[in-house]
Amino acid sequence: MNSFRRRTKILATLGPATDDPKVLMEMVKAGVDVVRINFSHGQIADHARRVGMIREAAARAGCYVGILGDLQGPKIRIDRFVGGKVMLDEGAGFVLDAALGPEAGTAESVGITYKALPADVQIDDVLLLNDGQISLQVVRVDGTRIYTVVLVGGELGNNKGINRQGGGLSAGALTDKDRADITAAAGLKVDYLAVSFARDAGDMNEARALLRKAGGHGLLVAKIERAEAIKNLVEVVGASDAVMVARGDLGVEMGFAELAGLQKQIILEARAQNKVVITATQMMESMIVNSIPTRAEVSDVANAVMDGSDAVMLSAETASGKHPIKVVEAMSQVIVGAEKYQLSHSRSRQRIEGYFERTDEAIAAAVMHAANHLHVKAIVALTESGSTTLWMSRVRSDIPIYAFTRHEITRCRVTLYRGVYPVAYDVTHGDAEILYYSVFHLLLELKLVEENDLVILTKGELSGVSGGTNSMQILRVTRS
Ligand code: PGA
Ligand code: MN
Repeated sequence: MNSFRRRTKILATLGPATDDPKVLMEMVKAGVDVVRINFSHGQIADHARRVGMIREAAARAGCYVGILGDLQGPKIRIDRFVGGKVMLDEGAGFVLDAALGPEAGTAESVGITYKALPADVQIDDVLLLNDGQISLQVVRVDGTRIYTVVLVGGELGNNKGINRQGGGLSAGALTDKDRADITAAAGLKVDYLAVSFARDAGDMNEARALLRKAGGHGLLVAKIERAEAIKNLVEVVGASDAVMVARGDLGVEMGFAELAGLQKQIILEARAQNKVVITATQMMESMIVNSIPTRAEVSDVANAVMDGSDAVMLSAETASGKHPIKVVEAMSQVIVGAEKYQLSHSRSRQRIEGYFERTDEAIAAAVMHAANHLHVKAIVALTESGSTTLWMSRVRSDIPIYAFTRHEITRCRVTLYRGVYPVAYDVTHGDAEILYYSVFHLLLELKLVEENDLVILTKGELSGVSGGTNSMQILRVTRS
């Protein structure tokens, strides 16, 4: 019998290292809850193949795995070098040239993907290349050419990213490639669509409209990774269903010293607005090569859990690392370890201020209050869209929340919600007693509770109506 279930979810990026069906199956068994399809790398055919593979693995393992499509966004990159890479020395001059050919880079100059960059930068701006490994200071702009002096040098390879310290580059969040990828994502029926470098509510609204127009049902995730998104945090969170603390690019634009504080601020804002939040990037970085995490990584994952993340993400660790299965196992263990210590302090913290906007939101809060103060074994929400379980999971608790739903879409969606687990169940029973016994029967069969355990059940008066949850029952499980 499950005495304790991991609540914080694991989001793992798919890539070449996960393309073996056996590896993918083991990752699912090790506890991957959601996978990320990264539109920055590969072709639509690769994404479609991976989506098919993960659906098959989940079906064979008898569980649900959500799918998140992650748009590339306006990531500005340098082009390529004649020799594949160059060495930049501190104090030397280096030119970024929008008119240079894509393969013509040398130690003196290189092309850039964003042709409007020369118009966007000013003298004294600091440009950070390769996730901040190399920094250049702008000394002069002349037509298509940005003249810089190397502040911090090193090896620079093909296609590395460019950020401006402090943010403020004008590139819009959705490129033409993103627009085409949104249509593809709709076709792949992704459960979540992540918008890279979102600046404001407008970017999120536009992506949502494009996805809906293409027939996609996915929820919208804002990746918080540029300075503007921090400035507009309240409205960006408000316009999204979920946010990602995208620490890679965010750390470059805002400076890495601010990251831990920003992470906590973003997580608090997301939870305050009843939104889902993912903490991402370099969480288990050393396991790309090593078979165990560093103590600093263990501590980082644990702190992201304690901060209140719904999910923690693996990037290259699974997509191209040497230990895609081991890293999921290690992350899962760290999460369980962290959650054990968190419970005693936070179990009965409740929100006491503010008003509810909806009946189902009020029921969700009442359920969590009752559950946290009574010895309840499980919460069962008969749900259509899953929104009741989302509200429930915003309140800290160690009691599992089972989303009983007849909709596959809802089951795949709640995989990202902290402490919420999907169960296939058809809700359309009119008679209350028949319904209770069928719920008990399923809970017992799945070994989620034992006889005589207390559970809380929520449902709507009219079964099958989305947003209609208006009642809670405290019930003792019996067999007949
Ligand atoms: P990426 O986003 O991996 O797509 O760049 C995450 C981040 O920037 O942290
Ligand atoms: Mn990024």
